[in-house]
Amino acid sequence: MLSCKDFLKELSDYLDESTSPGAKAELDQHLKECPNCWVVADTTKKTIQVYRGTEPRAVPDRLKFRLLAALESRMKARQKNC
Ligand SMILES: [Zn+2]
Repeated sequence: MLSCKDFLKELSDYLDESTSPGAKAELDQHLKECPNCWVVADTTKKTIQVYRGTEPRAVPDRLKFRLLAALESRMKARQKNC
């Protein structure tokens, strides 16, 4: 069973669809059980789509990393028992 921290670590690969099928299944499972991560994944996906819409190239890793770090600290502040 993945923790939220593990999930967030894999999230950018998950959204890029570059995770292995086994890892993806675990991430899908976590999303089903964790509304908080679902919101984070959904928000991140939409944000990436917005950037992809305005830039011809994929989101720079640096930007994704900063986004994920911001989301992670926000989640930590909001929830302590996931
Ligand atoms: Zn979670």
